[in-house]
Amino acid sequence: MEQRAVVRCAEGHLFSTTTFPMQNLGPGRLGPGRLIRCPQCGRLRSSVLADVQELSAPQLARAMRLEAAEFLA
Ligand SMILES: [Zn+2]
Repeated sequence: MEQRAVVRCAEGHLFSTTTFPMQNLGPGRLGPGRLIRCPQCGRLRSSVLADVQELSAPQLARAMRLEAAEFLA
């Protein structure tokens, strides 16, 4: 099973993506987040990795069903 990251968009929506480039996370590029098209906003949002330890099981399950369709930057 592929590894998916749970991310949170700037509007607070939770979703998942297989393409979050964690190895590229570092200071100085685009701030702490990455531009991902949020499946709930339908817009490119600066999104950060969510801390799955802080999510409830329903939140996590919902995020896993909502997968980002594309990844940019
Ligand atoms: Zn959103």
